[in-house]
Amino acid sequence: MDMQLAGRVAVITGGASGIGLACARAMAEEGAKVVILDRDGAGQEVAKALEAQGHDAVFVQADITSEPQVEAAMRQTMDLYGRLDMLVGCAGISGPVGRTLRDISAEDWDRVMAINVRGNFLAAKHALPLLEESDAASIVFLASDAALVAFEGMTPYCTSKGALLMLAKGLSVDHPAVRVNCLCPGVVDTPMSRADLGRPQGFAGLSLPVMQADQIARHAVFLASPVSAPINGTALVSDFGYVARSSLPP
Ligand code: NAD
Repeated sequence: MDMQLAGRVAVITGGASGIGLACARAMAEEGAKVVILDRDGAGQEVAKALEAQGHDAVFVQADITSEPQVEAAMRQTMDLYGRLDMLVGCAGISGPVGRTLRDISAEDWDRVMAINVRGNFLAAKHALPLLEESDAASIVFLASDAALVAFEGMTPYCTSKGALLMLAKGLSVDHPAVRVNCLCPGVVDTPMSRADLGRPQGFAGLSLPVMQADQIARHAVFLASPVSAPINGTALVSDFGYVARSSLPP
């Protein structure tokens, strides 16, 4: 299927690693020009590798918690490509894992919200004026199935991802020219999940079903692409049915 991304421009936050990196690769392979926005300088290597394969990619180092840096990154995107069609919000952290609120400091809490919620707000806020000029504008936020079911010892993360769902809905209502949706994956094999689940070597031999970042990236491409119009203000759950089973009475 032609995903109709040729010549379109995407900003991918968190594009230096994991799901964001896979999204950058998948969108570039569909012909999009990709701006890899990440606070980690490793994004430079990702952009170089894509360029070496003949794709149009650039790295912009920015922290999504800094409004001036986010604004500058969007300005740089316009200066380089003259348009913006898609924002994929992958930058995020899991924050404290395995602790209840009793043992979580206000600083821990604020850090998770600053990146996972406020950072996505800032990216969307400064992308919107550019997106509203596009004939097929779309935002995709990486939420999580943790937005829909509570995981033990992960309340800050779950709260932040629940907020992201409502941020997407609110944006879709207030800015009808831009489709805004969330992806809610279960466990995806990335540096974040390996660290959180204490599996530095990966997930081989684990009974838990684990997705690859490339799989989720294809879902992000679908939601970002004009082919998924008129899907708007909703969440796509990619989790082997985990949330559906959790909804059943015991
Ligand atoms: P990852 O740690 O591999 O990548 C996250 C990227 O975000 C990194 O490159 C990091 O430098 C960047 N980043 C973090 N804070 C930033 C900031 N303030 N400014 C700019 N960049 C920043 O993680 P991942 O597993 O690829 O996760 C990507 C997104 O998907 C996250 O929002 C995560 O919550 C979500 N998610 C992940 C899983 C999973 O199992 N891996 C499941 C569901 C949802």
